[in-house]
Amino acid sequence: MKLKHFSYTNMQSKALLLAVPLALMLCVLNACSDTVNAPSEVLNNDEQSSKKLSKQLNDHVELTDSKTDWSVVPLPDISRQPVQLSVASVVNSRFKQLTDSQIKQILLTSQLMVKKFFDIDIEFSETEVISIEETFNYLDPSVIAQRKSEIVDTDFIDAAAKSKAREEMQQALYATLSNYSGNEQSVINYAQPYLLNPDEKQKDFIGLSYALIDTLLERLNYWQLQKADDGKPVLNHNGYHQWVWWDSLGYSKMPYDVLITNQLVASAEYYAMDVHSSMRGGITAGTTTYSKYASLNSYVYIMVYPMLNDTTLLETLRGDESYSTEQIINYSAALLTHELGHMLLHLGHPFGNKACIMSPTVMLNYRDWVENLDAELCAVGSSQDMKPGAANLDYNRSW
Ligand SMILES: [Zn+2]
Repeated sequence: MKLKHFSYTNMQSKALLLAVPLALMLCVLNACSDTVNAPSEVLNNDEQSSKKLSKQLNDHVELTDSKTDWSVVPLPDISRQPVQLSVASVVNSRFKQLTDSQIKQILLTSQLMVKKFFDIDIEFSETEVISIEETFNYLDPSVIAQRKSEIVDTDFIDAAAKSKAREEMQQALYATLSNYSGNEQSVINYAQPYLLNPDEKQKDFIGLSYALIDTLLERLNYWQLQKADDGKPVLNHNGYHQWVWWDSLGYSKMPYDVLITNQLVASAEYYAMDVHSSMRGGITAGTTTYSKYASLNSYVYIMVYPMLNDTTLLETLRGDESYSTEQIINYSAALLTHELGHMLLHLGHPFGNKACIMSPTVMLNYRDWVENLDAELCAVGSSQDMKPGAANLDYNRSW
């Protein structure tokens, strides 16, 4: 889960109506029969018939193996504790940075929070510092080629292009919302006050998904006009702000379990759209996703750009003009702990339950989020989304 935090498959978003039952079938089969690092060279009968079915359903679309070869990361074995996690700080020198001392305190605080909220002992390594350039050099060129079409180019050439993109994004978001179908009203209630038109009451996930896409595009547009301290645009053509690439680092030899970055991640994609990131205008403060070489087969990033920088949109999303050092540390640690709940236990998102650290931060109001957290009122196992394995972390076995 990209839980934008979780990763949903390209196929689910691109061929949703035709392929969702097939995708679900493949995920279930693969989760039962395969380990993460074992590429399937011999398809079982069910998978073969599924592939034939997909050919029949999509005979006008050339589906290559890589587009259908999605599987689910198994729940990690964390019986040996403390669980050791390697950490790197990914620095874009153009933006404000955490100090070494702040990073140490974030990790220490998160270690305590993981114990408190999940009853798991973890230990972080010493933090390595790597540049954003080095980090993106890890990306596999073939994965870049496979995934670059997932990025929504928001410089629409005309109204027709925007309308087409909007429809495709709505399908991707609706695919994510379908995973929350047992919790529909809570999700709508969670998002409604923060939509561009909050007075237009949404009644179902179809209406909500369109409203969220319009909100996302409008708020993402804000960043196109923003300049960083160096006078250059915050977003530029190097692609460091594109969430797709943060979601793809795990298909490379990038070895870390945890990345903490000062880079802004704000973008729009044709897959893995989610409610909370759409409300914020495509800002994805953290993600847990597949990683080939990470010890638990997933890696986490959190980004602290919204903690360190004060702009009008960030002030609105946070409800605070600026953060003290103490706030930066506590909120970053809580954000990291949320992601570690996805990584260690594959927990889901209990939207609307304010006691839960696994309930995503509303907008970027970290103060309200952290002040309401209560480990006893939202213990592991206390609801469907708080059960280990509630979320699926998908990955493509061909990449
Ligand atoms: Zn999450």
